[in-house]
Amino acid sequence: MANEFPFFAAHPELTYLDSAATAQKPQAVIDALVHYYVNDNANVHRGLYTLAYNTTEAYEAVRGQVAQFINAKTPSQIVFTRSTTDGLNLVAASFGPLVVHAGDEILVSGAEHHSNFIPWQQLAKRTGAKFVVAPVTKAGNTDPAAVAQLITKRTKIVALAQVTNVAGGVVPLAPLADQVHAVGGYLVVDGAQAVAHMKVDVQALGADFYAFSGHKLYGPTGIGVLYGRQALLAEMPPVQFGGEMIDEVLDAQSTWAPVPLKFEAGTPNIAGVFGLRAALAFMAGLDMKAVAAQDHALVLRLRAGLLAIPGVTVYGDAHSAGIVSFNLQGVHPHDVATVLDEAHIAVRAGHHCAQPLMARLGVPATVRASFGVYNTAADVDKLVAGVAEARRLFHEFD
Ligand code: PMP
Repeated sequence: MANEFPFFAAHPELTYLDSAATAQKPQAVIDALVHYYVNDNANVHRGLYTLAYNTTEAYEAVRGQVAQFINAKTPSQIVFTRSTTDGLNLVAASFGPLVVHAGDEILVSGAEHHSNFIPWQQLAKRTGAKFVVAPVTKAGNTDPAAVAQLITKRTKIVALAQVTNVAGGVVPLAPLADQVHAVGGYLVVDGAQAVAHMKVDVQALGADFYAFSGHKLYGPTGIGVLYGRQALLAEMPPVQFGGEMIDEVLDAQSTWAPVPLKFEAGTPNIAGVFGLRAALAFMAGLDMKAVAAQDHALVLRLRAGLLAIPGVTVYGDAHSAGIVSFNLQGVHPHDVATVLDEAHIAVRAGHHCAQPLMARLGVPATVRASFGVYNTAADVDKLVAGVAEARRLFHEFD
């Protein structure tokens, strides 16, 4: 599998274990970007010449491919964004004020990425709503029972990651969706860490909105997707104004293009959309059951290897979707990552944009290893040996 990714030929010495931050790109995705700029470069939704028309047609067709990828009912429910962050901010800025009012409640988990935390915290401040943060499990994952308990008649929005980005827990969302719908609220899902690891079905999840990024899905950076329920997207006002998103502009007032174009002001990331198309084709060629089985095998192997090293704390559990966070007692995670870097092992160390979770775990940071389809048991063994070496170095004089 790694041979489809030219990055590994460029870095034969490197063990890349940071796919949760961003995944490497298959040759087909890189080719798609180049192909677009060489052959098809024209702005979309504007020109009347054949090339611009064809590029627009091809660009619009990608919505259908995305819709199929997440089982949305129609392509018009697919808004192209910059990223997960962009999509979640759009929902908070546009949909938020339509449904959240003073005294209402917005509920998130304490394990959310800042992208699915701060927009809601700020919306609550703007509207006078209560921002409720559900407790997490000891292992650092979203606790669905704790979330369920905090849903009240005043809950208007529940915003949760399908897979959390530090401990990698998969959150069973469908029952929570039923519960929040029963009180007249809405479920917003951060799919950033889910899409590369499991088949996503937005209808089965009961998601009212679902946001993800292309770059964690083996696609390019700068392109993301926001899915929304059609009736909700239709009533939402645009938050950015300019070209492409209008119907008619008069001196005194303007009207908007239909969904989804009303949310896509300005020249979009056309190359990114074609790169995303190639990433979806790459995903379509994967057996997602096999991907899950490989994730599981690597997670089990890494957890067992780390837990055999004295002084290692491992967060999450054996069911993590390809993400394992840990700490080595007495050694700052940044120092662990530096030792690993010297051994050409790329992991992430830090708060992972999840400071509220770090506070709950009582640590400033963790080391995080995360897997893509190109990782193997040998990568895991190298990491375990690197952590053992870090322990030896830092505890030499104990
Ligand atoms: N949510 C989660 C769970 C993530 O892991 C990330 C990426 N670290 C994001 C949101 C934000 O993604 P992006 O930076 O692509 O907007």
